[in-house]
Amino acid sequence: MSVPIFNLKRQYARIKDELEPKILDVLSNGMYIGGKILSDFENDFARYCGTRFAIGVNSGTDALIISLRAVGIKSGDEVIVPSFTFFATAEAVANIGAVPVFADVDYGTMCIDPKSIANNINERTRAIIPVHLFGHPAAMDEINAVALENGLTVIEDACQSVGSLLNGKKAGSIGAAGAFSFYPTKNLSAAGDGGIITTNSEHIATESRKLRSHGEAKRYNNEMLGYNSRLDAIQATVLSVKLKHLDDFNNLRRHHAELYSQLFADIEQVKSPIELNGMHHTYHQYTIRVPSEHRDNLVRFLGERKIGVAIYYPIPVHKLGPFAGTTDDSDLPITMRLAGEVLSLPIFPELRDDEIEEVADTIVQYFD
Ligand SMILES: *Cc1c(COP(=O)(O)O)cnc(C)c1O
Repeated sequence: MSVPIFNLKRQYARIKDELEPKILDVLSNGMYIGGKILSDFENDFARYCGTRFAIGVNSGTDALIISLRAVGIKSGDEVIVPSFTFFATAEAVANIGAVPVFADVDYGTMCIDPKSIANNINERTRAIIPVHLFGHPAAMDEINAVALENGLTVIEDACQSVGSLLNGKKAGSIGAAGAFSFYPTKNLSAAGDGGIITTNSEHIATESRKLRSHGEAKRYNNEMLGYNSRLDAIQATVLSVKLKHLDDFNNLRRHHAELYSQLFADIEQVKSPIELNGMHHTYHQYTIRVPSEHRDNLVRFLGERKIGVAIYYPIPVHKLGPFAGTTDDSDLPITMRLAGEVLSLPIFPELRDDEIEEVADTIVQYFD
């Protein structure tokens, strides 16, 4: 039996009857950009996250760029980010002329370490972008405390954590702003690209709305350089339908994670992901850690047996392209260690228990 790392067709089959008439309505009514479909989705999403505002944009990357600019980050400002994340977290900072400063992560949660944040603050530091990596919330209480003490703004990279909770609060509602992605593999996904910014600040909401539309305060009254970054009506339709199922989708992911963790309980070499007290993990990825001398052999072993796996992320961001050489590996020991140990297994709502057992059995077989 082969097990896919991801399969969107199964989800489509489940929502097809609900979705297709709504898509056809959009196609025939001709309102493709903006309008009620978008504002309804923005309101529903804000309500879901428990924030006052939500502003739809073109991607999670744009959600980061626009929220950084909306909070007033400028060229030369330093923004602390984890190195163990997707490239876009740091890329967004650099693309507005600011400087990403790489902090280390916690070995258990794999999220940014508040102590490492504190060690990287200087007079040029303006903001922190914690990433709720793989669906586990970052240590927001400690991060907000460090930010408050130093007058810094916190923007949550919530691209992998829609629906995740920290002491009952949704990811994206805990910092000054939250950035979400609706890329097709994310827990809430569009049929293409999409993203959204959440915030309780009227100012950030207003600035974000201007920035997503060429810096327009009113139509053809452009106050500043912005972007063309909109969430279109077709995507808002897909997202509105799926938002109603999101808690169900996330609970299925949690069920799968629990089953994996049970099956790995007796294998000493496999460390399952953890969920700290008070956290609600949404398992965007189910990422195990194995001894680094085994990791690549295990990937090959699983590949030969047609089990789809991936390494998120094999090269920490501080070593990639424009960021190479900015930070010594020895300053980010946990990041370096995780890059050699992590392995993400198939996880998506429609994954079947027999498929999970097949993946786990194959890993058990490797270590036998
Ligand atoms: C997916 C992702 C992004 C970027 O989102 P896009 O919609 O692909 O632009 C940013 N940060 C993290 C952590 C992500 O997983």
